[in-house]
Amino acid sequence: MTEAHSIFQDDHERLDGIGESLRRFGDSKDLLQKVLDTIPQTVFWKDTKLNYLGCNQLFARHAGKSCPAELIGLSDFDLPWKREETEFYRKCDRRVMESGRAEIGIIESQINADGKLTWLETNKVPLHNDDGEVIGILGTYQDITRLKQAEELLQRDKIELEKRVNERTRELKFAADHDALTGLASRSHFIQQLDSIVGQVDHQKNIALLFLDLDDFKPINDNSGHEAGDQLLIQVGAILSSSIGPNDFVGRLGGDEFLVLIQDLESQSDVTRICNDIRNKLNNQVLINDRTMMITASMGIVFCQPQEYDNCDDLINNADLAMYTAKAEGKNNHRFFEQAMRTSATTKQTVEKQIVVGVNDQQFSLYYQPIFDLNAGRIKSFEALVRWQHPERGLVYPDEFISVAEKTGTIVQLGHQVIAAACQQLLKWQSQPGVPTKDLTVSINLSPRQLREPDFVSRISNTVARLGVEPSSLCLEVTESLMLDDSQAAISILRDLKGLGFQIHLDDFGTGYSSLNYLEELPVDALKIDRSFVERFESDRSENAIVEMIIALAKTLQVSVIAEGIETRLQAEILRSMNCHLVQGYYFSRPLQVDEATELLVNFRSSSLAASLPTRQQKGTLIDTDRH
Ligand code: C2E
Ligand code: CA
Ligand code: CA
Repeated sequence: MTEAHSIFQDDHERLDGIGESLRRFGDSKDLLQKVLDTIPQTVFWKDTKLNYLGCNQLFARHAGKSCPAELIGLSDFDLPWKREETEFYRKCDRRVMESGRAEIGIIESQINADGKLTWLETNKVPLHNDDGEVIGILGTYQDITRLKQAEELLQRDKIELEKRVNERTRELKFAADHDALTGLASRSHFIQQLDSIVGQVDHQKNIALLFLDLDDFKPINDNSGHEAGDQLLIQVGAILSSSIGPNDFVGRLGGDEFLVLIQDLESQSDVTRICNDIRNKLNNQVLINDRTMMITASMGIVFCQPQEYDNCDDLINNADLAMYTAKAEGKNNHRFFEQAMRTSATTKQTVEKQIVVGVNDQQFSLYYQPIFDLNAGRIKSFEALVRWQHPERGLVYPDEFISVAEKTGTIVQLGHQVIAAACQQLLKWQSQPGVPTKDLTVSINLSPRQLREPDFVSRISNTVARLGVEPSSLCLEVTESLMLDDSQAAISILRDLKGLGFQIHLDDFGTGYSSLNYLEELPVDALKIDRSFVERFESDRSENAIVEMIIALAKTLQVSVIAEGIETRLQAEILRSMNCHLVQGYYFSRPLQVDEATELLVNFRSSSLAASLPTRQQKGTLIDTDRH
């Protein structure tokens, strides 16, 4: 009780104190109007006929009136809003009054008295009397124009941003899918497309994957400049694209390698026709620095049904293998993939691994094939030919491992073993009593890769100096392919070797790359006519003319000429009639093991070569063994 009393007491005192202030504030209507005029919201109220009964100052201003009193009794039709706006407001007012339910957050626009478009967020609440009847409507709204503008800007930015992102995505995708230089499909895009076809079972027709690699692209790029190289690649791309049908596609794998997928093929001959067409165009239609240049390429093809393969990699690898075979078989041609190619590739990989061990374990030895001088009736030289005494496979011939050793670089070490062994053998013969070695030389084959080693010259000169071999008794056989990469560097190395006293023989002459261009600059002592010319003597008489030309050329250059690969008496006679007297070949002798070579040296009688040519039966002079 005491507590209740005390509260009562407190209220009484508090009200007593505020009474004066309340009085001073006067009529509550005035106060309410002031409150309404002060808040940032716009406020109005209307009766059921939708005539304004009151509003705050802010609304009066929007409506173009100087004070709220001016609005009383007016309808929206009397105010500056547009007709559609007016109708919209009134419809909404009626809805609220009929339903008796407030509508909150109505977004509407309004052109106000100063002609400015404003966006409003409006709340409309029905007004009730004490009996619960709707007697009018109270509206409040807030200008959200800036919010709306910001929202619109944001929306515009968003659309712009989306547009840019889409454009950039398209650009990036295009860049990823296309080769920048040629505009062809990129490697990854090509593989993607190929992937969608490989393995399909419902494909009735055949497909062909063509792997094309330009021949000798590097010298063009090096000699004519990279721009010319680029021009060439672009034209090759265009030629490939022009040679295929609408369902086929071309991609650039990288460098000078291209892939073409050809679909809906009836037979293999369709592909051959396309390959011939491509080859023809490459041979005749490429312009470089405004001049037509004959371009050649090697092509490998897998012709199959899509379901024969379950992945792109195998398909591409097989086409690649076939391309390599085409290249190895003389370039400017095409080959279809066969399973045997894979077997030989596997062998190559095995050789790659085993050769390193072989060189370290010194599993290599030399055979010697004599080169005869028919005029002098003597053995002029022995060509050292390397053989691999493979622990499991027995004797392995250079065709199988020299290119592999070149590729892996093992040739450098192997080459030095060969040089040292040949020098030692020559010294042995020279010191052996009863072995005639006057003016005898040993010929050693050198690979381009070996010669390009920066220390090659110093290493070989150290070896001969250490062993005490006269450099002039060594003939270094090099091929024209040495000139391919950097002919000036090659010429300078050969000059250094020549300067040290070594003899230089140009091997496989006539098959190389533009031989005549640099021949005068080369410090060579002899040309070895490639055996392919001699081989064709009998079947193609025009070969005789070429050989005669080479012999005449050698004469002009004042260098010797050696014919190799002589297998028949007829070939030997033809050469002799051309005045080519330095000869090598199975007809005279196969490559020999050291003992046999020594025996030949010791027992050789010049009479056996004599003025006329020897026959194979002359025993004791020429040894006819199986291939060694
Ligand atoms: P090459 O320099 O042209 O050597 C001559 C090749 O022709 C030798 O094959 C030889 O056995 C073969 N040959 C000789 N006479 C005849 C004939 O009358 N008819 C036929 N059909 N062939 C004949 P080989 O010994 O198998 O050597 C093949 C190639 O391997 C050589 O060709 C040479 O380029 C390379 N080679 C051999 N030994 C070495 C070496 O020590 N170092 C390097 N870098 N390459 C070598
Ligand atoms: Ca040779
Ligand atoms: Ca040769």
